[in-house]
Amino acid sequence: MYNTYLIRYGEIGLKGKNRPQFERRLMDNMSRALSKVGRAKVSRVYGRLVVESEIEPALVLERLQKVFGIVGVSPALRLPLDEDAVCVGALQALKDAVPGLQLSPGSPITFKVEARRSNKTFPKTSPELNGMVGGYLLDHYPGLQVDVHNPAIRVSVEIREKNAFVYAGVVPGIGGLPVGSSGRALLLLSGGIDSPVAGWMSMKRGIQIEAVHFHSFPFTGEKSLEKVRDLCRLLADYTARIKLHVVHFTDIQKEIQMHCPEELRVTIMRRMMFRLSTSIARQREALALVTGECVGQVASQTLESMRTITLVTDMPVLRPLVGMDKEEIIQRAQQIGTFETSILPYEDCCTLFLPKHPATKPVPAEAERAEEFLAVDDLLAGALERTVIEDITARG
Ligand code: ATP
Ligand code: MG
Repeated sequence: MYNTYLIRYGEIGLKGKNRPQFERRLMDNMSRALSKVGRAKVSRVYGRLVVESEIEPALVLERLQKVFGIVGVSPALRLPLDEDAVCVGALQALKDAVPGLQLSPGSPITFKVEARRSNKTFPKTSPELNGMVGGYLLDHYPGLQVDVHNPAIRVSVEIREKNAFVYAGVVPGIGGLPVGSSGRALLLLSGGIDSPVAGWMSMKRGIQIEAVHFHSFPFTGEKSLEKVRDLCRLLADYTARIKLHVVHFTDIQKEIQMHCPEELRVTIMRRMMFRLSTSIARQREALALVTGECVGQVASQTLESMRTITLVTDMPVLRPLVGMDKEEIIQRAQQIGTFETSILPYEDCCTLFLPKHPATKPVPAEAERAEEFLAVDDLLAGALERTVIEDITARG
């Protein structure tokens, strides 16, 4: 059974002087992800990150596939320093790397054995090992064909001080940067399809997120809040835990409903959300806001509207979905596991108060005029006072 995993990481290998810091972060994140399923040791050995664990390999891989920063994982067999064991192990690794391997001379698969020997007391040199293991594999699968320049499969054999390691396959990871290596941001998390994906995409770039949700109880019920918690939980799977700030938004919405022109309601509501988010972000030392907005999807998502809304904050607003079509966003939501929850039918505070004809090109002066009828500062203070912070942890 596989008990050692060689971790391949892409970009963080390029970070020069920062590399140790990035590696440390990645190691911590891996340890945390694996601690949910059992015991695992994460270390840096011979310039590589290695996980050692006796946990069921499928579980280990499932966990590691949710750690940002990992490009690929090679499950390896740790074996005694014994030639037969190395041959048998290589065969096993090869079979696992090519599921359903049925090699016939008619349809050859090319391969290459890459042996390395740092333990010079081992009786065979690296070229001898290549020959021995390659010969053994060819004996078992005559359809294999050696190709030293461009093989389809590389079977690696490493002879170390105490053990031999054998591996062949690479299981793809999700890439990106380790969460926590790019600072913190506040995600505006609705119960929809888009914002969880936006959160995931910012996490992918190493951003640690906290989430804020604007809740309009009793217009939106406990179920809709539970759905947002579930979405947070699903995102937390990629980072362990996420703080969720639940803002009581009902009073603000009622005031907007009563005092502002109908077509500007969405604009004003968003401006209030951005103001509140900015305050929370500042308190939490977050450096940016993240939203699930996308250009052209709905009325509030024109460039004019975005400008009028964004003017109320001095924070950078990240909109990771800006280049994506709805279909692509849905696919990503399915891939990361949030889609099924997002489409549950509970009301969202925005849909409830939606005007029939929202302004598609609200200008800042209009919005400011409309807000003169609101006690903006008091409303903000009241909502912040009633904000509840929840600590949402991953399921696993
Ligand atoms: P989503 O699918 O994320 O709900 P959407 O396409 O429905 O997005 P809008 O309703 O215009 O778009 O909302 C735009 C963005 O504003 C959302 O992606 C989210 O970041 C934020 N947002 C909207 N409603 C809320 C809410 N109740 N709480 C927190 N953030 C919200
Ligand atoms: Mg929505």
